Amino acid sequence: MSQDLFQAPDYYQLDELLTEEHILVRDAAREWVKKEVSPIIEQAAQDAKFPTSIVKGLAEIGAFGPYIPEEYGGAGLDQISYGLIMQEIERGDSGVRSTASVQSSLVMYPIWKYGNEEQRKKYLPKLASGEFLGCFGLTEPDHGSNPGGMVTNIKDMGDYYLLNGAKMWISNAPFADIAVVWAKNEEGRIKGLIVERGMEGFSTPETHNKWSLRASATGELIFDNVKIPKENILPNKDGLGAPLGCLDSARYGIAWGAIGAAMDCYDTALRYAKERIQFGKPIAGFQLQQKKLAEMITEITKAQLLTWRLGTLRNEGRATAAQISMAKRNNVEMALKIAREARQILGAMGITGEYSIMRHMMNLESVVTYEGTHDIHLLITGLDITGIPAFK
Ligand SMILES: Cc1cc2nc3c(=O)[nH]c(=O)nc-3n(C[C@H](O)[C@H](O)[C@H](O)COP(=O)(O)OP(=O)(O)OC[C@H]3O[C@@H](n4cnc5c(N)ncnc54)[C@H](O)[C@@H]3O)c2cc1C
Repeated sequence: MSQDLFQAPDYYQLDELLTEEHILVRDAAREWVKKEVSPIIEQAAQDAKFPTSIVKGLAEIGAFGPYIPEEYGGAGLDQISYGLIMQEIERGDSGVRSTASVQSSLVMYPIWKYGNEEQRKKYLPKLASGEFLGCFGLTEPDHGSNPGGMVTNIKDMGDYYLLNGAKMWISNAPFADIAVVWAKNEEGRIKGLIVERGMEGFSTPETHNKWSLRASATGELIFDNVKIPKENILPNKDGLGAPLGCLDSARYGIAWGAIGAAMDCYDTALRYAKERIQFGKPIAGFQLQQKKLAEMITEITKAQLLTWRLGTLRNEGRATAAQISMAKRNNVEMALKIAREARQILGAMGITGEYSIMRHMMNLESVVTYEGTHDIHLLITGLDITGIPAFK
């Protein structure tokens, strides 16, 4: 990839809405991405390999459990700092951000919120330091948008639970040390449990042949009569609301992350357009290209404001799941459209790995689908404003 010359757009001086701590945290993540992610990410994506060399650095910038209290090894930051870290990481690559999101919001969050003190002390510090990596098993081969229909199940055997079933499309699965898995008990109630690598009957085959999120490992979780110790059940919340609570936290991070990908595409296209000469002048001087760039910065600015406000609501414990859905849906679509337009501004160069745009574009095709598809988030907004569910 060409040298990373990224300059973050801040058209409405939104930095003035941030605290000194937010800016420190954001700038540290930004510098780290420039130094450690940008030089290696294109090759990792080409090779379809998660770059394990960056795990320690991710932990050091606070990307694993930014808002988890320090007593459990987290960074103890607020929701805006969490969002800014996700923005900066996804500016580098959505796959790397996916690993951080899963670790923080889908593995550490449920253990912190729904686990007991022993579980928190046993797992959270290791997850925060990157010594352990985790994954989150909700989606099944026949149950994606409708996870409540899941068939993965646990049976009470007296001393332990017997786990059977399969999960699919699970980020981090191939190398995860632990999996937070959602399964139905004999009464049909969804329970969260911690499955550890090495448990007999538990395997995690990798999913190959992806054109998207290539620097993130995806796999299956297969449970064939896995004996789960009773102390591995998350005791403090069950039902579909438990995994959905984790998804709220992850979707909020994605709303910020998508801004990062969009900023990178816009910044790259703007620089290229000012340098590329056709018909005797920079292509940035043509109205058609200016329209694209002007619309991009407008959409990025709107998304920045929306998401900052969502962060303040989350800091006050007032953000609703529907508000998070709106931001995730809006920002990912915004980023995807910007990636497509930015790619065109670069002409043929835009399809190469010399620039990050095509990689962002392909990554965002997963981001628009996972953690609730674009359609499902629209239905959530529809339900919220009309009171009428239109899911079936
Ligand atoms: C790279 C990647 C990583 C992932 N990581 C994880 C992970 O770590 N953990 C995890 O549990 N899952 C993960 N997922 C799974 C992801 O959350 C699901 O793919 C997603 O929820 C959609 O499910 P599906 O793919 O089965 O699509 P489906 O649910 O089959 O949907 C197919 C299409 O139908 C539409 N549709 C579905 N229902 C309705 C409806 N009621 N009304 C209108 N339209 C509808 C959808 O919007 C979509 O366009 C990952 C997916 C990808 C691609």
